[in-house]
Amino acid sequence: MPKHRMIVFEDMIESDTGNILTDIGVSDKYNAYRNRPKECPECKSKSVRGVEILGAYDGPILWGCLECGSLLRRFGTKETERMLKLVEDTYTNPSDWGWRSRSEFS
Ligand SMILES: [Zn+2]
Repeated sequence: MPKHRMIVFEDMIESDTGNILTDIGVSDKYNAYRNRPKECPECKSKSVRGVEILGAYDGPILWGCLECGSLLRRFGTKETERMLKLVEDTYTNPSDWGWRSRSEFS
């Protein structure tokens, strides 16, 4: 099993509630786990691995349960939000990148 999984922020987004942590499905039921939890607090599975979000933090920023899909914070709520906002700002305007102007090719 790889140490952790690298993922692009956009692929994390599940909803649009205005709360960045809720949007990617992070449970605020649990406190932050600085180190990888030995078992998932939700389903007690031992299959918990780190989730690294590209551009947010060099290393796992969340812990994800492979069994039930729960996502847990590694850092405090505010800290996590701040790091995710940075990535969100980078990725939310794909039209700014220029590759969407298809009219130039037709
Ligand atoms: Zn679980």
